[in-house]
Parts: sequence; structure tokens; C-alpha cells
Amino acid sequence: MPLTNASSVRTERFWEVLGRQQCRVGLLNVPYTYPPSPVNGFLVAGMLTPSVESEFTYPPALKGELLKKFGTYITDVSGPNNDKARLIENVRIYTEQQQAMALYLLKEKSWDFFSVVFVGPDRLQHFLWADMDQNHPWYNASSGFQGELLAHYQALDTTLSQILQAIPQDTLVFLISDHGFNGCARKFFVNHWLYEQGLLALNSTSGVWSSSMTLLNRLYKVPLLRELKQKLGWKKIRLSDLRSASFSNMVDWSRTQVYFGLDGGLRINLRGREPEGIVSPGQEYDDLRQSLRQQLIALCDPLTGRPVLSAVLFNDKIYHGPYVDLAPDLILEPQREQQNLAENYLLDGDLRATPKLVFTSSEPYSGNHALDGIFCAWGPGVRIAYLVEGAGIIDLAPTILGAMGCVVPKYIDGGILDIFTDPVVEQVSTGTFTGRKEAQYEYSQEETDLVEQRLRDLGYL
Ligand SMILES: [Zn+2]
Repeated sequence: MPLTNASSVRTERFWEVLGRQQCRVGLLNVPYTYPPSPVNGFLVAGMLTPSVESEFTYPPALKGELLKKFGTYITDVSGPNNDKARLIENVRIYTEQQQAMALYLLKEKSWDFFSVVFVGPDRLQHFLWADMDQNHPWYNASSGFQGELLAHYQALDTTLSQILQAIPQDTLVFLISDHGFNGCARKFFVNHWLYEQGLLALNSTSGVWSSSMTLLNRLYKVPLLRELKQKLGWKKIRLSDLRSASFSNMVDWSRTQVYFGLDGGLRINLRGREPEGIVSPGQEYDDLRQSLRQQLIALCDPLTGRPVLSAVLFNDKIYHGPYVDLAPDLILEPQREQQNLAENYLLDGDLRATPKLVFTSSEPYSGNHALDGIFCAWGPGVRIAYLVEGAGIIDLAPTILGAMGCVVPKYIDGGILDIFTDPVVEQVSTGTFTGRKEAQYEYSQEETDLVEQRLRDLGYL
């Protein structure tokens, strides 16, 4: 599984729809905007931008302007995840840069639509939930970090007030999150469970692969050895190649029916689709999918005696469109909304650990994404003190397009939220979705290493 980037997105983004309808757009640190593609306005790429050396803006000259004004550019919050004090400091520095850049761009550039994404709450809540929440089993009143999350939200409130002062008074403002948060304390190693069930088999050499991977990861962190590695001409071997090579070398594909990827779902080793598929399409595939679903829904953690997953979904039941086949065959929804936080789970696909425990503590993560996020609207034409019910994140693109007086392409999901005093009527275009034809951008070896290191420090890999 290669690292994805902005060019992996095969459809039009809503800001591109705005742009081609004459709205000038400005984007700051929106995820999946690297490498930047042309917009009717400007963009500064966010998460997954390799480094300050990268061309991270559109137009390209904006990079030089920002570096001149701010001295440097931090592309994302960096870990390490085992040092809370350092993470808090990194988040603080990064958020200050975001605030200063947002204010500069809002004041100096012309825009009809502007968006900035603050990632600090996400990065902090993964690691600091237990420090803040007395209901968390690991809560420790003397950890010294109890007030940090609140302090971060207060800092963002100050940022928001400064943004509100910097923009014209008649601006429509949306404050949104892409997910909520809740505490968690347990981890479910999905591939270990598949191994235990006999659905995933390992090669006899898997132990060698797993220990050489651990060693390589360690070597890689030592700059001197990294240099040595380059001098020895190992430059062409990417860590990502080694990682996916290690996973695929550990697994005996001739005896594996299903595996868990990094994208939250199970993939069946289907003949004709997977390189060494053994499960036949049709009846065998359907039966396997059904039985996996039944087993997983019934699966309980021996420690709590409670179910681990709240839902197991078939891809074609929840997604539609030309790329459904790229989704995992089964999407696993962990328990994450329980009041008893010891019954909330992270999913992990790692195969390297020995012994192959199915359940462990989720440390160092004490918080996980929750389904319910926030949505607030403020400004001219917005219904006052009105609670919008049943809003979904997919409604935001059409709501933004509608509020800007733009036509909504028919292939965009969701609808305009009922939040305006004069209801906005959706104008739908009749065009059909054709997909993006341009070639996808591939990260260079160096870029892959930089992005992967950051993701690993944050615990994503
Ligand atoms: Zn997160």
C-alpha cells in the first residue's frame, strides 16, 4: 500500500467547483493538498507535505513570500508520541504559525472563500485524553498535564476571535470538525485474531522478517547509520518498500483468506484481484464475508466480556460509485462511544509483535476519534439559536457551494443544511462524474521517508 497524496483523489474537490464558478478561494493546511494543484486563488498545503524544501504552495511564488515573512514553515505537528511535554510544545509552535499565517493571508490576499484546518486538538487528544478525563482508567491527578487540552482550546478560541476581527463583518463563518473524540484504553490486533482463527497464515521465515524490520527501523533513526546506508548505495531501498515487503513476506498468501490493511477494513485474498488470491469470487467470497461479519460482531474481549466492534459493514452497502472496489471488503467499526472508556478500542494491523496477543492496552493512546463532531454556523442569513439535527459531514460541500450561490454537481453527495433564514435552493448540474484523468504524483524516496517518519512518530504507522 503506497502513501497517498492529493493527486490520489480522483474527483473534483469542492474548492475546485467553487473556483470554476468564479469564486476566489484560499486554503491553509487543508489535509491532502500536497502536491498543490492550481486553484482560483491560493493554497498552502497541509498534512503529508514532506518538508519546507517542497513546493508547498499555489501559486509557487507564495512559498517565497511566506518564508520571507515568517522565516520558516512547519509542515505538520511532529511527535514523538512518548514525550507529552514535547508534543504539547510542538503543537503550540505549529498552531502559532497557523494563526499568524491565517491572519496574514486573510488580510493581504483577496478571497471569497477561505478555509484553515487546525490539527492540534486531534494530535493532543490522542495522547492526553486520560490526563483530562477523570473517567479514564489511567487518570492520574498528578500527571501535570490535566489542564493542557483546555489550554489548547482556549488558545484556539483566541485565534478564532482574531480571525473574526480580521474578516469583513458580513462574512459567513462555519466552525466544523471532521470527527469527535472519546477516551479509549484497549487495542484490538486484527491480524493476530485472523491468525488465531486460521484465516491468515505466516511463513516459517516470518520471525526473521519481523526482527529485521525492527532492526531497520532502529538503524534508520540513527543519522550516522542513515548516512552510511546512503554511502553504501542503499539509497534506492525505501523504508516503505521494506515495510510492505515485510508484511507481504511474513504472510503465507497461499494459505491466507483475509487480512487487515491500514485503512480500517478487512480485505479478502480474492482470486483475480489480489496478486496471490485464493478465494473464488461469487459464492465462496460471499460466504466468507458473511461468516467474518457474524464472527466479528459476536467477538468479545476476555478482559471486559463486552463486544469489541459496534458494526461490521460491507463496502457496497455504505459506498457507491466507480471506486467501491478499492474499499476494503469489510469495514470494521470499533466500540468508541462507550461511557465506560475501558470498553473503547483502537484497531491495529501490526503483525510483528510476539506473542501474537489479540487484545492489549492502547497505550500510549488514551483517546480515539468518535463519530459525532461539531458544526456551528454564524453570520448573515443564519438562523439564530437553531439546532440543526442529523447533519453529516457530507452535507458540508453542498452547503458551502449553495451558500456561495454556486451550482452543485450532481455527483456530490449530501444536501444543503437547513440553517438559513431564507432557505437556499440547491441548483444541481446535470454533468456526470468522469473522474480525474491526470497521472498520480509519486513521492520521491526522500519525501516518502520524511512523511513516513512523521506519521510513525504520531503513531499512524
Ligand atoms: Zn487523529
